[in-house]
Amino acid sequence: MGRAFVYVILGGGVAAGYAALDFVKRGVTHGELCIISEEPVPPYERPALSKGYLLPEDPARLPAFHCCVGTNEERLTPKWYKEHGIELVLGTRVKSVDVRRKTLLTATGETITYKILIVATGARALKLEEFGVSGSDAESVCYLRDLADANRLVNVMQSSSGGNAVVIGGGYIGMECAASLVINKINVTMVFPEAHCMARLFTPKIASYYEEFYQSKGVKFVKGTVLASFDFDSNQKITAVNLRDGTKLPADMVIVGIGIRPNTSLFEGQLTLDKGGIKVNGRMQSSNSSVYAVGDVATFPVKIFGETRRLEHVDSARKSARHAVAAIMEPEKTTEFDYLPFFYSRVFTLSWQFYGDSTGDVVHFGDFLGNRFGAYWVNKGHVVGSFLEGGTKEEYEAIAKMTSLKPAIEDLTDLETQGLGFALTF
Ligand code: FAD
Ligand code: NDP
Repeated sequence: MGRAFVYVILGGGVAAGYAALDFVKRGVTHGELCIISEEPVPPYERPALSKGYLLPEDPARLPAFHCCVGTNEERLTPKWYKEHGIELVLGTRVKSVDVRRKTLLTATGETITYKILIVATGARALKLEEFGVSGSDAESVCYLRDLADANRLVNVMQSSSGGNAVVIGGGYIGMECAASLVINKINVTMVFPEAHCMARLFTPKIASYYEEFYQSKGVKFVKGTVLASFDFDSNQKITAVNLRDGTKLPADMVIVGIGIRPNTSLFEGQLTLDKGGIKVNGRMQSSNSSVYAVGDVATFPVKIFGETRRLEHVDSARKSARHAVAAIMEPEKTTEFDYLPFFYSRVFTLSWQFYGDSTGDVVHFGDFLGNRFGAYWVNKGHVVGSFLEGGTKEEYEAIAKMTSLKPAIEDLTDLETQGLGFALTF
């Protein structure tokens, strides 16, 4: 027994929500579209989980942050899907896919067929066990990828109030969760292997600004080492973490943010994979023409850099999903995806945005003692990336526009002198 749909979206995260809205805008008819998701709730804005969701006062809770409130568009509640005749199959894991036969098999034993499949399975958090450390199933060890993780994290945080947390990983999850823990009056030590936080994006100068800000809030940093093991008490409760350099840190709770792996396993051997994701063309179409891939799981051509990338950020999930729907519903009118990578974060009172690529020489500008500064990345004589902390809406728009134009730079010193003013002239 099974059901048949014209369009099936596999995965119910950010990309699925934005795809659904665009399907409706482009006139999908009742009964044509189905979304299957392992999560028990309709698509929501995942970035809320490490920010508003963790606040001690007036925290964000569903249904307030269902897609697509993140871009000030309609909030897609269960009622919305019903009204538009979209079938939501929630709390249901797809356990196999046969792209030749165009069928999916769910963990509940149902077979669902499609004409067009959009893969939006996102990614899973890497586990400590994958780095040779055991014990990550302990009660007070938290990961953060979905709503269930966030609820668990809130409970552990509440029971650790006034105590000690160790945050493993100096990337996005580590930085945003550390800030939330501080706001919840928990003492935080961050541990990561690199010389500074956000090593893949921040320059040492940018990183030191944020690290000093965090230190002023009481956060301690242990760099250049990784977790080796946990100490437990007689009730199997974690009491401390041991680092490879011999340091022992007391811990009432541990948050782990050591990266992700895209959920591609259903398609291994069936679709072409590249850079850890499903390889797609500029229409988000995979090596099987009936299968599209969007969001964290897709490796797509980034035109501006002339190479394929897999991005793990919300703006790319939203826009790639919308592009796939346009390519499916209006193929003649849809050109190749032309995307400028955009990353951002908000912690404490700080807020930054980054556009483009962080390669080449770096020129810093602005006031690193205040809270308005930035950087340009110049590669082969052209600006390829821009970062700005504490900008206005207009200033962020200006750095985005300028970066998309990849202007030629003759003199780095001159660019440094012009600073933000350079972007404002475009
Ligand atoms: P997801 O949103 O992860 O959705 C994937 C969905 O597929 C999930 O519902 C999952 O359950 C489902 N699924 C997977 N496999 C199956 C299966 N076999 N069967 C059924 N369902 C399945 N990015 C930013 O740019 N800015 C931010 O501030 C930011 N904050 C973030 C905060 C947190 C806590 C996290 C975890 C991520 C954050 N990101 C942020 C990244 C951003 O959320 C992701 O890039 C985005 O969610 C990717 O969207 P997606 O739809 O591809 O995947
Ligand atoms: P990141 O890739 O951002 O960071 C992982 C961090 O953990 C890196 O500093 C990494 O170092 C470090 N690390 C790797 N292995 C170990 C180890 N064994 N012990 C200690 N540290 C280790 O991943 P996150 O987990 O922080 O984020 C997960 C996903 O969520 C990402 O896709 C991210 O984009 C997304 N996210 C985005 C946000 C945003 O855009 N504002 C906010 C929150 C999440 P190394 O670089 O050497 O590998």
